[in-house]
Amino acid sequence: PMSLSDPVKPHRICVCVRKRPLNKKELAKKEIDVVTIPGNGALLLHEPKQKVDLTKYLENQTFHFDYSFDEDSTNDLLYRFTAKPLVKTIFEGGMATCFAYGQTGSGKTHTMGGDFSGKSQNSSKGIYALAAQDVFTLLMQKRYADMDLCPYVTFFEIYNGKVFDLLNKKAKLRVLEDEKQQVNVVGLQEVPVSSVDDVIKMIERGSACRTSGQTFANASSSRSHAVLQVILRRRNFLHGKFSLVDLAGNERGTDVSNNDRHTIVETAEINRSLLALKECIRSLGQNSEHIPFRMSKLTQVLRDSFIGENSRTCMIAMISPGMSSCEYTLNTLRYANRSC
Ligand code: ADP
Ligand code: MG
Repeated sequence: PMSLSDPVKPHRICVCVRKRPLNKKELAKKEIDVVTIPGNGALLLHEPKQKVDLTKYLENQTFHFDYSFDEDSTNDLLYRFTAKPLVKTIFEGGMATCFAYGQTGSGKTHTMGGDFSGKSQNSSKGIYALAAQDVFTLLMQKRYADMDLCPYVTFFEIYNGKVFDLLNKKAKLRVLEDEKQQVNVVGLQEVPVSSVDDVIKMIERGSACRTSGQTFANASSSRSHAVLQVILRRRNFLHGKFSLVDLAGNERGTDVSNNDRHTIVETAEINRSLLALKECIRSLGQNSEHIPFRMSKLTQVLRDSFIGENSRTCMIAMISPGMSSCEYTLNTLRYANRSC
């Protein structure tokens, strides 16, 4: 159903949208699918004007992105058009970043493939594993094999403006910036890896750490940003870095009176970091001198990714197709639109 040409040569920023299928629960509730993907990157949102008679008051709104992926798209296909073109970047000494953005339940973790905890056997490969696979394929290629590149993995979470190491029992880490503006996450475990399986083991370990333990347990995983990095070092010096970011859910606490103080603080922090991210990506797209990376911990930690000639970014905005998610979906589409 989708007409896609070959992936284009990667430009600095690629913004695309992925629609997930209606799930069983939504189908049982007879949810109406309000998103159509007609092709060529376009996306049509049938926005209800008034929530009176859902079928009567539809107003269409069209958006355009680099790519729009419909509900039949697989992780493989998505990967081929989004993160795959960025793998080369890190071999050429650059920084690559791929973000999964969207409301909780829209498919961010499904797309990234970070849903490994306890059921790795039957979960489909996501961008994490597919990118790792390509990194190891390129490492074997003659022209890179001679370069003496060593791959490492880091996996951490940013929750409420604080960094936690998912490969080291959720140790809380400090972020320091030196006089050269280099940002350093102090003590972050950089685990050497020698195969895709090694990387997958780290994803499993980190994902399990992400969703277990603490009292805020599962809820926290949708309220935090998870960052998996594949790092290439050449004689111990940083050569390239691929950051794959499963962002916190972008749903806002609209009814503030309903939320406790803790949730309000949490939500404010998420909003702040997502706004900062949008600003940084936009500055990057405009080749601006000033990238406001200090606006949040997320963008500060990813500073490397926003600086330098050879950095590439891909933003994948996930959307739920149901009528009841319409407002969130519209927020997501507007956010993605402004990141272009
Ligand atoms: P998020 O991380 O954005 O909160 P998840 O990735 O956990 O959302 O997805 C929520 C549910 O929807 C999961 O059960 C997931 O397997 C399913 N899902 C998400 N995207 C897809 C898709 N494209 N195809 C099939 N199922 C999906
Ligand atoms: Mg998730």
